[in-house]
Amino acid sequence: MADTNLMPIPGQVDPVPVARDITPRLDGRVDLLGLPKARIRTLFEEAGLDPKQAKLRAKQVYHWLYHRGVTDFEAMTDLAKTMRPWMAERFVAGRPHVVEAQHSTDGTRKWLLRTEDGHDFEMVFIPDADRGTLCVSSQVGCTLNCRFCHTGTMRLVRNLTPGEIVGQVMLARDALGEWPNAATIQKPPSSRRKPESGPDTFEQTDSDPGFRQDGDNHDEARETEYRADGRLLTNIVMMGMGEPLYNFDNVRDALRLVMDGEGLALSKRRITLSTSGVVPMMERCGEEIGVNLAVSLHAVTKEIRDELVPLNRKYGIEELLAACAAYPGSSNARRITFEYVMLKDTNDSDEHAHELVRLIKRFRLPAKVNLIPFNPWPDAAYECSDPERIKSFSDIVFAAGISAPVRTPRGRDIDAACGQLKTAAEKKSRAQLDREAIGK
Ligand code: SAH
Ligand code: SF4
Repeated sequence: MADTNLMPIPGQVDPVPVARDITPRLDGRVDLLGLPKARIRTLFEEAGLDPKQAKLRAKQVYHWLYHRGVTDFEAMTDLAKTMRPWMAERFVAGRPHVVEAQHSTDGTRKWLLRTEDGHDFEMVFIPDADRGTLCVSSQVGCTLNCRFCHTGTMRLVRNLTPGEIVGQVMLARDALGEWPNAATIQKPPSSRRKPESGPDTFEQTDSDPGFRQDGDNHDEARETEYRADGRLLTNIVMMGMGEPLYNFDNVRDALRLVMDGEGLALSKRRITLSTSGVVPMMERCGEEIGVNLAVSLHAVTKEIRDELVPLNRKYGIEELLAACAAYPGSSNARRITFEYVMLKDTNDSDEHAHELVRLIKRFRLPAKVNLIPFNPWPDAAYECSDPERIKSFSDIVFAAGISAPVRTPRGRDIDAACGQLKTAAEKKSRAQLDREAIGK
């Protein structure tokens, strides 16, 4: 693969292809999407700005990119007029390409997206009465081959870059029209500009553009602002294609931009990362990202989990639950979600429900359980449990004092359930492979 490096990741037998920091573009410009402020600043310096200018401009551009969703340098009104084309010649602030956008009758929306180098992946938006959840992908494909998961049947094409991950959230905000509008944002003090100044003589007047809100209450302030705006996109789940903990650095870097009060400003309490159980990376996830954790448990015996989630052969149930018990930041107020896909005659008996309760109690886990009706796909080896079976399972767990709601399938008419984001992408990527095979 031309645009990836190989990097060993703990817990992974084979090296995982890791996308490079910056994907080179054919036009030679550098895509700023996904880069933190410090990196943007370095790039500006390397392009010829003096350090003070680079710092100021990085701060301004960062604000426009991540807080306001602006992609056109011409619209960045606090940059000197002559600097805007200078920026546009060297940099770009892209978005993933939209191949297809679908809208379900229940309000669920699904996008088929394409990377700059032609790989397809998906993102889903699920609106509810009190929240709107965006299901974000972390990889194109997945290495882990869970038996009931459609993505698992697809080979890993590559990790998504931080830009491609944060780009999904930004694209959703574009589509939902949810960038903070100018009226609710504090305007920077106007800067004096010399009309004739060229790239070497940019003024250094607006030393603090006035965007910053200091202190720890960024999240709260921004959230209130957004709620007052009637925002639809309130929550993010890393439950699209891929295993986010096998693309740890990129997922972390992207989520930091999402959580930054000067960036997309979404509270970490509203972000959930779902893992199939990459035990060695869980502690770092809590410490370096700090989002809510969801664990795809799906079975309570070694035999069944080995079959459903082959990673279990490497990190068994006990090791996984011990890592959950040690997850930094979890508490009764911030519970760990255990996802449990309901598969007929496989993992859905009353005895399994009792064992699930025993395990949660034994490891003293602040837990809630999400029962997911299996979403069938062509040639899947499993069927969804009957509704009565699911109810009985749920009742047993609830009776033990552990919340165990049954997740309602959403967007069935557009095949949009999270974790099954592949159907269209697979077809496209096959077409893509065919094109590659004939050298196009
Ligand atoms: N790789 C991560 C996150 C992506 S999968 C993980 O496995 O946790 C997101 C969730 O969807 C997981 O709980 C996964 O087990 C579930 N899932 C996958 N395929 C499914 C299907 N066909 N029906 C219902 N849930 C599914
Ligand atoms: Fe990968 Fe998650 Fe699907 Fe398993 S369930 S194959 S880890 S995406």
